[in-house]
Amino acid sequence: MSLIVKERDYNVSPFIVIWEVTRACALKCLHCRAEAQYKADPRQLTFEEGKKLIDDIAELDNPLFVFTGGDPLMRTDLFDLTQYAVDQKKLSVSMTPSATPKVTFEAIQKAKEAGLSRWAFSLDGSSAEIHDHFRGTKGSYDLTMRGIEYLKELQIPIQVNTTVSNYNLQDLEAIANKVRDMGAVLWSLFFMVPTGRGLEKDLITADQHEEVMKWLCQVQQTMPYGVKATEAPHYRRVFLQEKLRLGDSQAGIGMKRADLLGRAHKGVNDGDGFVFISHTGDVYPSGFLPVSCGNVKEQSLGDIYRNSPVLRQLRDKSLLKGKCGVCEFKELCGGSRARAYAVTGDYLESDPYCAYVPKAWNNNVQSLHKSGLA
Ligand code: SF4
Repeated sequence: MSLIVKERDYNVSPFIVIWEVTRACALKCLHCRAEAQYKADPRQLTFEEGKKLIDDIAELDNPLFVFTGGDPLMRTDLFDLTQYAVDQKKLSVSMTPSATPKVTFEAIQKAKEAGLSRWAFSLDGSSAEIHDHFRGTKGSYDLTMRGIEYLKELQIPIQVNTTVSNYNLQDLEAIANKVRDMGAVLWSLFFMVPTGRGLEKDLITADQHEEVMKWLCQVQQTMPYGVKATEAPHYRRVFLQEKLRLGDSQAGIGMKRADLLGRAHKGVNDGDGFVFISHTGDVYPSGFLPVSCGNVKEQSLGDIYRNSPVLRQLRDKSLLKGKCGVCEFKELCGGSRARAYAVTGDYLESDPYCAYVPKAWNNNVQSLHKSGLA
């Protein structure tokens, strides 16, 4: 997958499109956004509906395209869909299969033949004990490691996805080293949103978010792989602040890694450069913000992405409320809209897991104090 991505207007076309091809999955992960089930929902998009969706996606100026689930490998037509997207529509396709016995050498080889650009495995602990507890299935860690060996043998670029939570906060450094040792090209950290089976008690605190993000800035400098943070737009703010704090001597390195961080000319956020299609065709700003903006069985994805009132609101930073609304970093960051929605019920509210106090917010509180109102 190319790291150089041309500028695009996120009001017109997203940078990345994620399609939940099925909710079927053999695992029962503690944090599962999709509350995946063992059997596919009979309403999930058919092969023909999937092809039509891929046609729609290609018309959005060929964004990055990811198959997720559930477990994408639970769909028997997965590689046919991949081949159609790659050969007919010239899309770059990645996928995030679950580590189950379905991940065989032959399955990965088939994915490669179909033109897959990148394969992502989840690794939520540096040991079987931590990872398997999180994934809710004994043996998941060993299957992940075996799958990674297959990817190496077949020379498919490896992406490792890690969900950051209370369960693995103390283990992140060990995971970072493991990601290096397996030769991954990208470590993608997902900062938990309390939705689906993910509960707010499992989230790290706002201060811990800040500490992890500062540490990630160091990881970006020192590790050979790229780092990406999902549902963590404040990482862009932390990165910029760290770069300014370290001064000119570190600036060059910072810029180089910053390119890897975004890969887009500008960071994405829920509904703003990023869009998600559910297994039944509902379009959401992201998989963690379950507000339906339309259905691809009734309307084209492009029409929904450009014109849905919800998505238009999410792209308009002047509508943000609370701390995010007055923050001097709101254009760069904007806070996780999914986390704001999950915690407050309002997707325009402030991200409750950002520790930063904007200058205008501080001034406002001080003037309230002076006037005796606070
Ligand atoms: S207050 Fe909101 S916009 Fe500002 S850095 Fe935090 S999350 Fe981002």
